[in-house]
Amino acid sequence: MIKLALFAGDGIGTEVAGEAVNVLKFLFDSNSVRYEIEEDLVGGASYDEYKKPITEKALKIAKDADAVIFGAVGGPKWESLPIELRPEKALLTLRYDLELYANLRPAKIYDELIDASPLKKDVVQGTDMMIVRELTGGIYFGQPRGIFDLEDGQKKGVNTLVYTTKEIERIAKIAFEISRKRRKKVLSVDKANVLECTELWRQVVARVSKEYPDVELTNMYVDNCSMQLIRQPKSFDVIVTTNMFGDILSDESSMVAGSIGMLPSASLNGKKGMYEPIHGSAPDIAGQNKANPIAAILSVAMMLRYSFDMDNLAEKIEVAVGKVIKNGYRTADIYSNAAGTKLVGTKEMGRAVIEELKK
Ligand code: NAD
Repeated sequence: MIKLALFAGDGIGTEVAGEAVNVLKFLFDSNSVRYEIEEDLVGGASYDEYKKPITEKALKIAKDADAVIFGAVGGPKWESLPIELRPEKALLTLRYDLELYANLRPAKIYDELIDASPLKKDVVQGTDMMIVRELTGGIYFGQPRGIFDLEDGQKKGVNTLVYTTKEIERIAKIAFEISRKRRKKVLSVDKANVLECTELWRQVVARVSKEYPDVELTNMYVDNCSMQLIRQPKSFDVIVTTNMFGDILSDESSMVAGSIGMLPSASLNGKKGMYEPIHGSAPDIAGQNKANPIAAILSVAMMLRYSFDMDNLAEKIEVAVGKVIKNGYRTADIYSNAAGTKLVGTKEMGRAVIEELKK
């Protein structure tokens, strides 16, 4: 019996997670897979009900589950709350408490969506990369942190970039393992010329690479990498990097792929994982049936692959999404008015994927 936790969250999180779960239920039911899904509020929805972004009960559901499906959290309604009570805290708490230290973010361009990318066709065509971002360490978690009063009446804002050898080793191993299922190239991104912490990062990744003599390791500074991602995105295979650099570079890579609404992610600790689209709750289009559910649907495919070794079912979803795109279905974010395309909403896109799975 597969045990899943479902936290749809706020805004379009509820809309896209709903479609992803519909696809998953159809696939499980038609393949006689036994499962149960326990759902709870997180983010702003949890704050409104319980005055905290995530409750102990929700955390327990997540801990007891084999995998977590997450939508998105946040919105203007909760922006003025203290940081500890903001919706985004739910996400950080889940990542930290479940020790989801490896965040996998694939960015792949579908040939039919090349026009949706702001980059030129010959630059993006063939792009297929995987960003492996360290998720539970680095500057987002390091201590000390805070805003402190100085004696002269000024204030001082502090965050701390810190990584231990163990933290770097385990994320590097994930990157090398994944590259073996791909083109066997790992690029480690750091700022070793300025930050001692990432000098250690570079040394440890180089040491781990000796266990993977079949994989080619190269290094790049983050500023250069942000330039090369736009200049020659198809040259990248697996990129492994720190929490903050990965956060920024993966959003940049989403533009290469056309829309943030197309990009799934997995956050792993061994087999246990949390699966979510990389986008947020998109308050500007929430509740209007406009959100692209493909990132959420592809996140469920990643769950089948990485948590349950159901590669065949994962592939079924990925193939169905590819066909739906080929057949011209487009949500507004990827619509380009090209011949043979039709503008559809969130629900219609989800249904189109299920119809493809039925064939
Ligand atoms: P966002 O990702 O929500 O939206 C950025 C832009 O992309 C918006 O124009 C939005 O309409 C569009 N977009 C995003 N997902 C889309 C989809 N599936 N289909 C079509 N268009 C889509 O980022 P933001 O506007 O900076 O943040 C909004 C809220 O979400 C904030 O409260 C932020 O803190 C939160 N957030 C949450 C997560 C998360 O839960 N993982 C991630 C990022 C931001």
